[in-house]
Amino acid sequence: MKESAVKKIAVFTSGGDAPGMNAALRAVVRTASYYNIECYGVREGYNGLINDDFTRMGPRSVKNIITEGGTILKSARSLEFKTKEGRQKAYENCVKRGIDGMVCIGGDGTFRGAEVFNKEYGIKVIGVPGTIDNDIFGTDNTIGYDTALNTAMEAIDKIRDTATSHNRIFFVEVMGRDAGFIALNSGLATGAIGILIPEKKDSIEDLFTRFERAEKAGKASSIVVVAEGEKLGSIYDIAKATQAGFPDYDIRVAILGHIQRGGSPSCADRVLASRLGYGAVIGLMDGKTNMMAGMQSNKLTFTSIDEAIKKHNEMDQELLKISEILAI
Ligand code: ADP
Repeated sequence: MKESAVKKIAVFTSGGDAPGMNAALRAVVRTASYYNIECYGVREGYNGLINDDFTRMGPRSVKNIITEGGTILKSARSLEFKTKEGRQKAYENCVKRGIDGMVCIGGDGTFRGAEVFNKEYGIKVIGVPGTIDNDIFGTDNTIGYDTALNTAMEAIDKIRDTATSHNRIFFVEVMGRDAGFIALNSGLATGAIGILIPEKKDSIEDLFTRFERAEKAGKASSIVVVAEGEKLGSIYDIAKATQAGFPDYDIRVAILGHIQRGGSPSCADRVLASRLGYGAVIGLMDGKTNMMAGMQSNKLTFTSIDEAIKKHNEMDQELLKISEILAI
């Protein structure tokens, strides 16, 4: 094997946390150790770089964390890193330890910060996509998405039990920021009669048609899954409009919220995180920078951070169609 392009690396988790970030950290630390690269964990994302909060990590520092949700390094949103002075401090702390590479586990904001830092100071950066929203280009799935999806599905299943017992209509809001991946897939998996996502043009008339059709089909209770980024309006506005159109309906709103961000990562997320954490270190050793490690069609790939941030994974039109066909 040719000589590694990096000798000392830092790893941190940043932005919104996601289940599986710990599994990714474990993979980074252990892969680095395997290849005799010094590895430092940085607490609280970019804040730790600025505040000099580095800890030398070895294989035992990451024991028993593959099952844990959240992130043992903690995550943060750092306003100071958005300033030139903040990044200068971060750079000085890296220089002090001879850090020549960084693995940045987070979402698009984290990647944007990494790219700016690399352009200014030249330290090699590789991104690992950790976000439940699945809104990053260059990877089929992001770390945390599968777990969040399963949490949403289980919660909606439970809501369906109470909806059925009382002949109620439930509007359930799921996370995903501007992306509808959690909504579409959890809606399909729970048999929702309607799925409202920002990637398609929804209308209240179409929703009403669905309710009428459901009534004719003898359905007494129904679930509508609404993505948090839905453009038609807030879930409360949509529920209110529906109540006005169907005064006899017993309508309830449930917002799943942060339970979707927590919990022990699913098997798929642990495997994905392990592969990407390993891939990020291999990428740095190979001299790559400003790239994101991703999995596409079950293969490790590297996409430029620029593209990963700017482009978007298309919503699967066929999946949308299937969800409509199966909701009759
Ligand atoms: P996520 O990584 O989940 O998208 P954020 O958008 O909060 O989360 O980004 C995480 C952090 O990345 C921010 O708090 C900030 O410190 C850093 N960051 C984001 N954008 C920039 C930027 N343009 N320049 C420098 N740092 C940035």
